[in-house]
Parts: sequence; structure tokens; C-alpha cells
Amino acid sequence: MIYIGIFLFASLAINFFYRTINLFIKMNRLTYSEQTKHSFRCSSCNQRYTLSGPETRQLSKGALRIKKSTPKRQVTFIKFACPTCGNYANQEKLFDLNTTKALGNVRIQMDAYQAPLILDFLLKGVLPIIIVVPFLKLFV
Ligand SMILES: [Zn+2]
Repeated sequence: MIYIGIFLFASLAINFFYRTINLFIKMNRLTYSEQTKHSFRCSSCNQRYTLSGPETRQLSKGALRIKKSTPKRQVTFIKFACPTCGNYANQEKLFDLNTTKALGNVRIQMDAYQAPLILDFLLKGVLPIIIVVPFLKLFV
């Protein structure tokens, strides 16, 4: 019986790692794809503008990233030359969803295009663990 338990545990672990790596690969590909839009706000001219995935990659490659966190909010800046005013300044990345709850213990920063990937990861990578782990006791 213990072998079944070990086998189940190993399968879950392998599946989880596979799904995690898969999530990162897909996320990276989607982030810089032509269809993906990224919104920014320039801290110099205060203009909002949108860049495509490849434009974002080109401008943010090797650029300085600053994450400012307070218990109430979290802001991410990437420093590059603003396409609107041309000043080299902090560009605030605007997320579709940016919430900070429980005095900063819960922070979510994501864009709408990421949601299906994360949902897929939760269903196929995390949910099996939640379902199977209570039964592992039966095998050991
Ligand atoms: Zn600007």
C-alpha cells in the first residue's frame, strides 16, 4: 500500500513542477506577443499610453524596475524613455487588476490576459494536490 502512496505523491509533485514551468513559459510568450497590450503612465508627463508586447520587451529589456509597496497599495515602475514626451523617467505599469488587501499580506497584480493561464494552472496543477492529499493518509 505504501508504494501506491509514494507513487501518487510523486505523480502530484511531477505534475505540479511540470505545470509551474509550463505556466512560466506560456506567460512569458503571451506577455511579449503582438496581441498583448500593456498600459503605462509616465511619471514625467502623466500621460497614459499603450504598448504592444514586442514594444514593451524592447523598451523594458535591461531597464530598471522599481516596486513600491505600502500596506495599502503596490506600484511597479519600469524606467525608460517615454514614447509621448521622450523623457527618461519612471513609467508606471498599469495592471487590469492591482489590489492590496489585509495590510499588504494579500497582493495581486495581474492583467486580464493572464487570467486563463492562471486558472488553468490552478485547475491542473494545484487542484489535484488539494483533492488527493487528504487520501494519502490511507496509503501510509
Ligand atoms: Zn512622458
